[in-house]
Amino acid sequence: MRTNLSVEEALALVLAEARGELGVEEVPLREAYGRVLAEDLASRVDHPDQDDTAVDGYACREEDTWGASGDNPVRLRVIGESPAGRPFAGRVGKGEAVAVYTGAPIPPGANAVVRVEDTRREGEDVLLFAPASPKDIRPKGDDLKRGEVYLRRGDLLTPGRLGLAAAMGYPRLKVFRRPRVGILSTGDEVVEPGEPLPFGGVYNSNAYSLLGLVLEAGGEPVLLGKVADRPEEVLARLEAAGPLDLLLTSGGVSMGEYDVVRKVLEERGEVVFWKVKQQPGGPLLLARLGGLPVLGLPGNPVSSMVTFFLYGRPFLFRLLGRTDPPYRPLKARALTPFKGAKGKKVFRRGVLSFEEELVVRTTGNQSSGVLRSMAFGNALVVLPPDRDAREGEVVEVIPLTFVL
Ligand code: AMP
Ligand code: MG
Repeated sequence: MRTNLSVEEALALVLAEARGELGVEEVPLREAYGRVLAEDLASRVDHPDQDDTAVDGYACREEDTWGASGDNPVRLRVIGESPAGRPFAGRVGKGEAVAVYTGAPIPPGANAVVRVEDTRREGEDVLLFAPASPKDIRPKGDDLKRGEVYLRRGDLLTPGRLGLAAAMGYPRLKVFRRPRVGILSTGDEVVEPGEPLPFGGVYNSNAYSLLGLVLEAGGEPVLLGKVADRPEEVLARLEAAGPLDLLLTSGGVSMGEYDVVRKVLEERGEVVFWKVKQQPGGPLLLARLGGLPVLGLPGNPVSSMVTFFLYGRPFLFRLLGRTDPPYRPLKARALTPFKGAKGKKVFRRGVLSFEEELVVRTTGNQSSGVLRSMAFGNALVVLPPDRDAREGEVVEVIPLTFVL
């Protein structure tokens, strides 16, 4: 077992556990949001499938309209119309125009469009107060070219990409199975919300903040409830968990006499590492139980969330083969001081906003028992070991809102 690792060493070991491939399933588009694509998608169509108009107006021959202006309008004869989806059957000849509406094909013979606001209809004729231009014609394949790959295996299906898959003509998509992530809370004092809270008790918040984080990362949470600090109980519940791709435990990995998760994993599994030089989340543990990777998260509500975010989330991204990075660090100016720690990389909770530049303020009380910092903070402020940040200094921040 390795111990006292740097954050980078610990992350590398966690990612190394993300072996093997998740199965693939096919889902209809309406169920594909937030899933990860398991195939490359080449467009089945050109879009537009022929030259079409980007504006409402009149399609005609550009050369017939040269010099048209407010003082010197050009008169064309309107020979028909082409609403979107109903192409004009004929051909545009010299001195002629066809009324076209956004998305309608440009009729043969026409090579330019004049916008309706630059025209006036006079019976069978139209007066143009500006020359027609080819600029408002969208060429065939302007958006999508048939056969070209626009979405790839590993791409997260965001709203825009779902639309893109539909535009390319796919009704169903192959996506990776969601990794099943077990969530087990430990602690004699931990009580499910809704039950009466005994003296010294604490409601099981970790299970639900982790549930949210697992869903957000594309996993399928499997709530395994809570067990008391007794090795037999922990073991029995783990053995009954069913097939999982990752197991999260919370609590029981510190130095104390009752920290049974660590003991159970040492005896029954194989501990890869225990303790990372970071705050919060220092007692983090990585183990294997049979073939199952186990992240032993510390019980403090902030610690369990931050360690899942820093290690569990990248693990799931790796397992899913996601092409987007699990987080994207930014630089922001600290508008409040942030306290570092000796020999540890520190992740403070802050509120990031843009006020002429990116700025970040502390959420207040930074104790790892204060869950409100994770509920109302939107960024982690990263401090290297032995470094405080003074007010006005530029610091590294990792946004907790997950924007592509
Ligand atoms: P531990 O890591 O077991 O030493 O727990 C550290 C702190 O986190 C203690 O104050 C626990 O009461 C608290 N804690 C442990 N598990 C949970 C949980 N599931 N929900 C909320 N707080 C917890
Ligand atoms: Mg405990």
